[in-house]
Amino acid sequence: MDITNCNLCPRNCGVNRKNGELGFCLAPNSIKIARYSLHYWEEPCISGEEGSGTIFFSCCNLKCVFCQNYDISSKNNGKEISIDKFKEICLKLQKMGANNINLVTPTMYIPFIKEGLILAKKEGLSIPIVYNSSGYESVEALKELEGLIDIYLPDFKYYDDELGVKFSGIKNYSSITKDAIKEMYRQVGKSVFKNDLLKKGVIVRHLLLPKHSNDSKKIIKYLYQEYKDNIYISIMNQYTPIRKLEYKELNETVNDNEYDELINYACDLGITKAFIQEGETCKESFIPDFSKYEDI
Ligand code: SF4
Repeated sequence: MDITNCNLCPRNCGVNRKNGELGFCLAPNSIKIARYSLHYWEEPCISGEEGSGTIFFSCCNLKCVFCQNYDISSKNNGKEISIDKFKEICLKLQKMGANNINLVTPTMYIPFIKEGLILAKKEGLSIPIVYNSSGYESVEALKELEGLIDIYLPDFKYYDDELGVKFSGIKNYSSITKDAIKEMYRQVGKSVFKNDLLKKGVIVRHLLLPKHSNDSKKIIKYLYQEYKDNIYISIMNQYTPIRKLEYKELNETVNDNEYDELINYACDLGITKAFIQEGETCKESFIPDFSKYEDI
């Protein structure tokens, strides 16, 4: 893992971030965040009643065309903070009653986060740490986090690599994500719960894209064949078209039939460890407000 020849993620840009060079993600040589708060809209075993102590990192190494957090992933809104400030935010969220520290899109900042978490743990941070990412991760970089992360919450976005090329501009999303999930599972193992809250384990999220349920089925089948009931799969219907895109199908929401068919498919496979969404989740109001980062 080398930030002077950046290989923190599989893009392997090779830029020297210490000298101010920017790679594909445009992440600087420090932690940059857009928001931190208690967040109540994760899976129930992550949010609980008290909320998840969510830290949203700015910039992104994927920049999917349909991103729901476009303001921070592509516009890179946010504020640079020191490792010490990051540590304080973690401790503050714990004091506010958070059930966990939820690092959202942290990939580009792994060395800084590692340092900050070690310091925070020395000063009493004891709630579980959630690593919430796109799944497009370097196994070598993930290894640096071994022992610091309790819950991995990766996406598995596309099975067919052509979709990765089309929507995220990368050739090898599927194989890279499979390897990353294997490493995550190796580190934390089977799910461990206490009082209905997840304390350790892996939840793989899959967002159903409109008219792409065949690809979704391949992902769900793969995960079940590989991990059986040892991980959870979160099957999401909340896709929201937040700006007009050149791909016609992505300008719609997912219809109920598509989602129901996918859930039935998962049930028929025998999957019982899954989270599903009910009711109207596809609204912009579920997307956090990222405009107040100057107050951080
Ligand atoms: S973290 Fe950013 S700069 Fe580094 S390899 Fe990935 S995209 Fe490139």
